[in-house]
Amino acid sequence: MDCIFCKIVNGEIPSKKVYEDDQVYAFHDISPLAPVHVLVIPKKHLSSVLAIGEEDVELIGRLHQAIGKVAKETGVDETGFRIISNTGTHGQQTVPHLHYHVIGGRQLEWKA
Ligand code: AMP
Ligand code: ZN
Repeated sequence: MDCIFCKIVNGEIPSKKVYEDDQVYAFHDISPLAPVHVLVIPKKHLSSVLAIGEEDVELIGRLHQAIGKVAKETGVDETGFRIISNTGTHGQQTVPHLHYHVIGGRQLEWKA
């Protein structure tokens, strides 16, 4: 499949890994918006939250658990951080493989 994040998962495209288990992969965003900007993705290709099926419920739980591990690993667990999953056109999703931005390391503003 011609998906940039699937290629990152299978090593065809290099990435700076933060966390990995059998179902989840996390890596530094190539264009960080803050001192900590990590993308957490399922290894399974799902295009967005809209593609999450009944069979993926455990995977999504694991993914959210991994977000907590990434926060601890990158040191933002105590200061706080934001999780964002841009979806579709209005959400300005640019990569059609489900991903959660984990952003922190500085005071964030809320301007949707
Ligand atoms: P979104 O715009 O919400 O779909 O997020 C896609 C994110 O992927 C953006 O923040 C990009 O900077 C990031 N990105 C794109 N290509 C790469 C790559 N090769 N390695 C790491 N991050 C990437
Ligand atoms: Zn993919």
